[in-house]
Amino acid sequence: MTDVLIVGAGPTGLTLACDLTRRGIACRIVEQAAAPAAGSRGFTLKPRSLEALDDLGVADRILAAGDVRGWLRFHLGADRLFDLRLPPAAAAPSRPYPNTVGLPQWRTESILRDRLAELGGKVEFGRGLTGFDAGDEGVTATLEGGERVRARYLVAADGGRSLVRRTLGLPFTGSTAEDMRALIADVRIDGLDRDSGTHLWVTADGHMLAARPIPHADTWQVVTSLEPGQEGDLDTVRRALAGRTGRADLQASDPAWLSIWRYNLRMVEHYRVGRVLLAGDAAHVHSPFGGHGMNTGIQDAYNLGWKLALVVQGAARAELLDTYEAERLPVAREILADSDRLMKGRVPPRAIRPVLRLILKSVMARRQRRTRNDHPVYRTGPLTRHLTGRRGRVRAGDVAPDAPVMLDGRQTRLFELLRGPHFTALTFGADAGLTDPRVRAYTVVRQGQAGLVDTTGHLHRMYGGRKGTTVLIRPDGYIGLMADTPAEPADYLKRL
Ligand SMILES: Cc1cc2nc3c(=O)[nH]c(=O)nc-3n(C[C@H](O)[C@H](O)[C@H](O)COP(=O)(O)OP(=O)(O)OC[C@H]3O[C@@H](n4cnc5c(N)ncnc54)[C@H](O)[C@@H]3O)c2cc1C
Repeated sequence: MTDVLIVGAGPTGLTLACDLTRRGIACRIVEQAAAPAAGSRGFTLKPRSLEALDDLGVADRILAAGDVRGWLRFHLGADRLFDLRLPPAAAAPSRPYPNTVGLPQWRTESILRDRLAELGGKVEFGRGLTGFDAGDEGVTATLEGGERVRARYLVAADGGRSLVRRTLGLPFTGSTAEDMRALIADVRIDGLDRDSGTHLWVTADGHMLAARPIPHADTWQVVTSLEPGQEGDLDTVRRALAGRTGRADLQASDPAWLSIWRYNLRMVEHYRVGRVLLAGDAAHVHSPFGGHGMNTGIQDAYNLGWKLALVVQGAARAELLDTYEAERLPVAREILADSDRLMKGRVPPRAIRPVLRLILKSVMARRQRRTRNDHPVYRTGPLTRHLTGRRGRVRAGDVAPDAPVMLDGRQTRLFELLRGPHFTALTFGADAGLTDPRVRAYTVVRQGQAGLVDTTGHLHRMYGGRKGTTVLIRPDGYIGLMADTPAEPADYLKRL
């Protein structure tokens, strides 16, 4: 009997496996493919995902392997329209990862697999789920080869075609447009300048081709819209390169991965059916515009991990698992709408090209800046209690911002103290007297006093903290409670 069986070793399953394993939960992660996937697919890791990956101990590796520049060269047919080169944002005390990071999904997955191995876990390749029965006491799953596995919970991280979702008969509501297809390929391109960042060509008839340099490699991720009847092969890449860029000197070769993407905008209406939970693409799929998919999956897993761990350990009631759907389903709904808006955006005709340069550049710059600040909030979620009249920059339901602090004479940062499976209580100028074993409690003080020293005054400014205010930060870095009376934090934890 294992506590949790995770089906699928994409970014969602791997994040959950790392999180549960470090919490000491017995889990298995099974993958139907015989070996790790090779494709570049999800290319953008956003700040909130990086904060989650920091907690799991891999943010540094991601930054070292990726590229934070996000530069873009925009072409209308053969004409170069503009370069977009926002300088990377400087890390602020409250946001140590202010930029999105570009790196191919296979690299993100390999970093997570290495981390899982360090924590003592491993992906079981070639062990696809073939069926399962879920009851009140647990789940019995069958794997390729016939092995039967008993698990207390099963998590479907098995991607857009999820067998688990189909077996449960869960509706996957939305739309598919068979005529909206794109070819995605990892290829070499000779003759294309890598220093300009991503090249995006849009043609007057609305077709596009994007070529994104893969960091620390000599290959590119090419995404090009397909016309009806076109095949997903290297010849198509070659024809699109010549036709859409107007350049005869660009030579594509050595395809490492080729795939056809179809427009699908679908999501489930429930993330939990008894002892089975859905996460990542198994629960929601949409267009790659906006770069949300992998990030949403990682953040689903990070939201679910601590809740599942507490329930399995008997430290919280099973109802806590319902808050996973309540918090994450609205995020998916918003993301589907956003990616659809972007997908359907049309490039205006040639006649207004001079205006287009100005408008499009500023729209794209605004979008890039907004993406950097992509922190979903759970302000109206069922685990959120905002019980203070004090006005700071954040509220309960927001992500707890980082801050420089000093503890026992050592300079550190709040994120270091949050790292791990516990809740963290910060009480300003007083001892909240919290003895709950799930919590690490600190008294926040100004310079020269004993406790957690707010060296730059950042914590006081962010939380509007006054004597007696307690901020209770959940294991996934969200502020669960802000309150001014000492009984509230203990009551909040008791209700879990
Ligand atoms: C061109 C493109 C660009 C994209 N760009 C971005 C981007 O910039 N940013 C972003 O965030 N996202 C992006 N995405 C989306 C991203 O790739 C997906 O959202 C992400 O892979 C979802 O992760 P997942 O772990 O939920 O599912 P998957 O990555 O699909 O993983 C599911 C895994 O489950 C396995 N599996 C399936 N069935 C079974 C079974 N029965 N038993 C065992 N294992 C099984 C599969 O083999 C697979 O390994 C992009 C996607 C595409 C196609």
